[in-house]
Parts: sequence; C-alpha cells; structure tokens
Amino acid sequence: MPTLTLPDLQTKLREWKGCNLHKTCTQAVLGEGNPNAEVMFIGEAPGQKEDELGRPFVGPAGQFLDELLGTIGFKRADVYISNVVKYRPPGNRDPTPEEKEQCMPWLKMEIALIKPTVIVPLGRHALGHFFTKLGITEAHGKPQILPLGKLGAGSAQGNIPSVTVFPIYHPAAALHNGGLRQALYDDFQALGKFLSERKKVKDEE
Ligand code: URA
Repeated sequence: MPTLTLPDLQTKLREWKGCNLHKTCTQAVLGEGNPNAEVMFIGEAPGQKEDELGRPFVGPAGQFLDELLGTIGFKRADVYISNVVKYRPPGNRDPTPEEKEQCMPWLKMEIALIKPTVIVPLGRHALGHFFTKLGITEAHGKPQILPLGKLGAGSAQGNIPSVTVFPIYHPAAALHNGGLRQALYDDFQALGKFLSERKKVKDEE
C-alpha cells in the first residue's frame, strides 16, 4: 500500500462519514505541526474555535497550551498537536466511547506518520487511549513507557522499541479550575527537564 502523507490524511478525513459527529460539526479537524516532531500532544476533541477554523487547539485552551509550550522553549511549529476525536461534539460535551473508537484509526495513522518518541496525552480521554487503567490524577507529570506493539502504529523514530507517554492535565481543565494551573506549569517543567535530560544522554551516545 502506498504511504499516505499528512495532506492525504487531511483529504480523506474530509470525505469520511464514519462518525455521526460529522452531521453536527462544521468541519473535521486533523492534527497539525512539525511532520518530523519528536513530541506529539494529543487532546480530546475540537471545541468551537477549532470547529470554525478547522485547526486543533486554536481557542482559549490552545492559547494556554501555546503559553505552556513557551515555558519550555517550544513553539507550536516544533511539535505536532492532535486530538483523539476529529469532530466537535455538540456543545463541547464529552465524546462517547463509541465516538472515540470510531475516530481512533485517524490518530493511529497520524502517530504512524509522525513517529514521535514522546507522546503527551492531554487529559483523561487521550490518556485512556494508551493506558486504560491509569487515571490522569495519579499519572500526570510522570513518564510512562509504552511498548510500540501497544500503539499499533509502526515504529518510532530511530527504530526504538517503545515510546514514552508523558500524561499532563488538559489545559482547558485549568481554565475551569484555577487550582490546576500551577499543576500544568509544573508538569511542563517536568516534561522540559525530561526532554533535555534525554537529549543529553543521546548527544553523549
Ligand atoms: N480541546 C481539545 O481537546 N482539543 C482542541 O483542539 C481544543 C480544545
């Protein structure tokens, strides 16, 4: 089978009708960013602004995500940002397990194309895709190793056998619950430290 590119995925997703959310949303929202990114952020589902513009994380939660990325020296263009669900659920309700399942092949294809070595699930919906038994409250800010076989998404960069999953609270959670704001800053500091230590080890190899 010929290898699909990200623009191919974008075209195919726009034609896709495999999830009923397509009936109520404005348009599908695929991920975006650096196609060679080592770090991939995964949110829950597009919100109102994302639905309007057809781009992930461009509303209030996205502005906070940009700020958080800046605290560890990243710009949006350095990483890849996507969502579990590709259509906005009406009124921003939680996506159902069925909607997440239906949209999953798109995320798997994105992971297979980007081949990130670090995946950052933002919040419980994205974390649940990788670890069904792990809650975001216990797991946030702590790197977890995921064997690639569990991803079902081809091999990661450098043909290493596993990826690191680094769960973080969803930035939107801190917009509703100010108490989580500091936890998000702290988790990003922990992520930045993890990435720079990893780079140091790689540079010394
Ligand atoms: N929340 C998400 O989970 N994803 C977006 O793209 C925007 C808000």
